Amino acid sequence: MPFDVDVNAIDDRLRQLALFDQATCYSKQKASLQRELENFLSSLPGLIAVSTVTPRDICRFLVYKDKNGKTQVHRNGCPHLGKRGTFDCACPLRLSYKTVDSYIGKLRAIFHTIGRDGEWDRRLGLGNPAADKSVKDYLRLVTAEQLQARVTPKQASPFFVDKLAQLSDYIDRNLQSPNITPTQRFILARDQAYFKAVFSSGDRPGDMGLVKVPEILRFPNDDGKTLRDGDNNVFEIKRNPQTKICPVQGIEHYMAVAQQLRIDLTRGYLFRPTTPQGGILDAPFSSTAAEARLKG
Ligand SMILES: [Zn+2]
Repeated sequence: MPFDVDVNAIDDRLRQLALFDQATCYSKQKASLQRELENFLSSLPGLIAVSTVTPRDICRFLVYKDKNGKTQVHRNGCPHLGKRGTFDCACPLRLSYKTVDSYIGKLRAIFHTIGRDGEWDRRLGLGNPAADKSVKDYLRLVTAEQLQARVTPKQASPFFVDKLAQLSDYIDRNLQSPNITPTQRFILARDQAYFKAVFSSGDRPGDMGLVKVPEILRFPNDDGKTLRDGDNNVFEIKRNPQTKICPVQGIEHYMAVAQQLRIDLTRGYLFRPTTPQGGILDAPFSSTAAEARLKG
């Protein structure tokens, strides 16, 4: 007897998952980077496509992307060496090494998606071209160059630190109120942890909501944590001496509140959305939801 298979229901589920994937911020950035890479390749001599591109052309693409750079890398002897901001000294503007790193991660994911996987084999032209040593060398060299030019990666501006401290005070006051429901307590504890984590990690706030609990690793000496989202992005979160805005304490507090409320955070998503009925979903916390909370 044949199985009773509902193909439509199965296909609906697959479509739903595909939509979920497309909706993530990381997927959108990946898709737009792929379009840009395709346009770049079609402008090169020869017929190069994403399916045939080599590490050499990946490095060329990364150099090309410097046109959007906002990090001024000062030459030796420039009076602006080590200063933040952009000056009219004609020293070049480049992508910060952190941005280069994140582009390389996305490029690796793009090739993975189209089945170009594994270590790059130069003779056979097989493997993931963005995973080649020459691409890693490119990142290593631009990093060394920027560290030598004393470029400091962007950090949360003092403005944000102030606002974050205010936000933290505000949430703490609300948390101490005896009149809040368990769900409200959960939401407040989640929000403070989420915003501290996002502000301290600096970039890619959109993907912070995808972090899962088993992917949290403590630094060996317990001075911070790394968070990893589903696409291998690593967020490094360091303890901050200002306890009020310290993201690690924020997350620890959040997890303690969840434990009190008997919400199992040992697996699944770290930052979770709630339903209008007061339930808590094991699902990604979207950046739009976070923005709405911040406005609130
Ligand atoms: Zn300069």
